[in-house]
Amino acid sequence: MDLSYILNILGEDREGYFNAVAPPIMQTSNFAFDTIEDLRKALQDEASTHLYTRGVNPTIEILRKKIAALDGAEDALIFSSGVAAVFMAVMPNVNAGDHIVSVAKPYSWTTKLFNNLLPRFNVNTTMIDGTRIENFENAIRPNTKLIFLESPNTMTYELQDLRAVAKLAKSRGIITVIDNSYCSPLYQKPIEMGIDLSMQTATKYTGGHSDTVAGTLSGSREMIDKIFRSDFLNVGAIISPFNAWLLLRSLRTLDIRLKKIFQTTKEVINAIDGHPKIEKIIFPFHPSFPQYELAKKQMQDAGGLFTLILKADKIEEIEHFCEKLNRFLVAVSWGGHESLVFPSCAGIKKEDFDPKMENHRMIRVYIGLEDSNVLIEDILQALN
Ligand SMILES: *Cc1c(COP(=O)(O)O)cnc(C)c1O
Repeated sequence: MDLSYILNILGEDREGYFNAVAPPIMQTSNFAFDTIEDLRKALQDEASTHLYTRGVNPTIEILRKKIAALDGAEDALIFSSGVAAVFMAVMPNVNAGDHIVSVAKPYSWTTKLFNNLLPRFNVNTTMIDGTRIENFENAIRPNTKLIFLESPNTMTYELQDLRAVAKLAKSRGIITVIDNSYCSPLYQKPIEMGIDLSMQTATKYTGGHSDTVAGTLSGSREMIDKIFRSDFLNVGAIISPFNAWLLLRSLRTLDIRLKKIFQTTKEVINAIDGHPKIEKIIFPFHPSFPQYELAKKQMQDAGGLFTLILKADKIEEIEHFCEKLNRFLVAVSWGGHESLVFPSCAGIKKEDFDPKMENHRMIRVYIGLEDSNVLIEDILQALN
């Protein structure tokens, strides 16, 4: 199935809604039945009927079909946020007493899920350096039920060899989950490499306009069905039909937005690489990146996010650089139309700043849809 077909046609049934080009927002909580027998059948099979929007809604169904196809999966679920998608990938697959292996430094709230929330229910997690497959082998215990990956992460971009981890996990009967937000399903296809469940925050690239919070999770029909029938209906972290519609609209331009963002990112990196105030640029497709070869092997491309390590003795130098930028907003998140910077020193107390620590001098840069020359000039003037 070609990408244009998925983004523009798949799942849409225009004859069913007056040949309208844009799909309708089915803003209803409820669906009615002609007979009690029809209602009885619906109650027995909520996954495949229009009964109640916490389960299935026609606008959200279009989105589910498109996301599943983008991921190369049989089915997908859509959530009210990316962290809800993480939660729903993990929770239905573990019980009290089970063990999880996770890569070190996943997304902040994923870290808190593993370190704070799950231990309350006696599910414990070992975090490992995921750049080496031996570390997975050594961390697996008889009660390990799930391996959680994030490749690359969104600050220092460490990768995991997805094919190797999938093979290892399959041989031990362990479910694999990946946070695929950085590449998006357009530029990395974990399910085709053997990973069981692929999630992404749709708040970032899929939404693309900094106006919607959402998450997606794709996998086999069996796994998605299990999640739907168990904790999905119980937790109720669903996307609204209107937000699903916003994502359908955003999908029309996902391909061209990412192409432009990735191209601009490379132009910006080329223009500032080697600047005397920059100690290092961390980016998976930079030849200096330790896992550059693996990046080329399992990711089709990358862009948008990269990290600068500034040369600085004082925290004020880093703060001034960020505040001097005119075309970059200082903010968390990423994936929208607007360029952003996020300095790691914002996450520590001012007095704890230590210039010897590389990770205190990191600035994550997100490149949006602006013209590359404008962004390059702006970074150079702020550096100087
Ligand atoms: C933002 C983000 C999330 C969480 O998504 P929300 O939509 O904000 O809940 C998860 N993983 C990664 C890598 C992210 O960048």
